[in-house]
Amino acid sequence: MSDALKFPPGIAYIDGDYRAMSEAKISVLDWGFLRSDATYDVVHVWQRRFFRLDKHLDRFSNSVARLHMTLPFDRDGLTDVLMECVRRSGLDDAYVEMICTRGVSPIFSRDPRDAVNTFIAFAIPFGWVANEEQRARGLNLSISDIPRIPPQSVDPTVKNYHWLDFIAGLYGAYESDAENVVLVDLDGNITEGPGFNLFAVKDGRAVTPESGVLEGITRTTALELCRELNVEAVTGTLTAAAVRGADEVFITSTAGGIMPVSKIDGHPIGDGEVGPVTQRLTALYWEKHSDPAWSTPID
Ligand SMILES: *Cc1c(COP(=O)(O)O)cnc(C)c1O
Repeated sequence: MSDALKFPPGIAYIDGDYRAMSEAKISVLDWGFLRSDATYDVVHVWQRRFFRLDKHLDRFSNSVARLHMTLPFDRDGLTDVLMECVRRSGLDDAYVEMICTRGVSPIFSRDPRDAVNTFIAFAIPFGWVANEEQRARGLNLSISDIPRIPPQSVDPTVKNYHWLDFIAGLYGAYESDAENVVLVDLDGNITEGPGFNLFAVKDGRAVTPESGVLEGITRTTALELCRELNVEAVTGTLTAAAVRGADEVFITSTAGGIMPVSKIDGHPIGDGEVGPVTQRLTALYWEKHSDPAWSTPID
């Protein structure tokens, strides 16, 4: 396979330089790779505007600080690098990732304090959790009985690459012909899926899990948009039974926004059609992408 097929178009900032994605490589001794000792964030660009960039920068800075890492730039410097990746990529719609890893210890010690943190950013074409057909008809989602890594072990509000629970869940879902998966917590309540949060709507009221999840920017956005649409929306405990018995279910992610779920483990949600609350939220979500209060132009 040629590099052109293996790598998407796009530009990475790595080792202080801007490079083609095929040239964006890290050391195998980087703890980001050896130990999943890393945090990251993903913001998207739609029609050459970042969507809610400030919220992503806040979350990323908090995550980096929580993990005792440091970034080589201040907030403005970080913004400049992300802008430059998008500019050089020439992409109008992009998936823009920023990563900070523990890095490499120059003396190969086992003490994380010896490591020199690595910062990488890249802009690649925008990608979706659900493809066009799935967005039109709604996903068939499986509720796995695999518990998400408990928040007492790994703080889920620090966006991380501890995904082996999600990956196991995905293989389980594929075995039962579902298209994606959501994991539970140790009490069997719903948490989140690989890169997305979940909402269930019942009798006009939307609920999303309160804890044990990454506080998604799209989740926050959906809560705000519900308010604008006069739909009651709360964070709380969401049981698997409540999801199965909901009128509507949707997922939220930077990778695709608000996306409908029409089946859980093959059984239709409500009448099995994409519901009215999901449709109104999705339309308003995309409208907000040109609102200067919620978006930043690539200059
Ligand atoms: C990124 C992610 C989400 C969604 O967050 P957004 O900020 O809306 O993209 C949800 N759960 C997990 C585990 C994630 O990694």
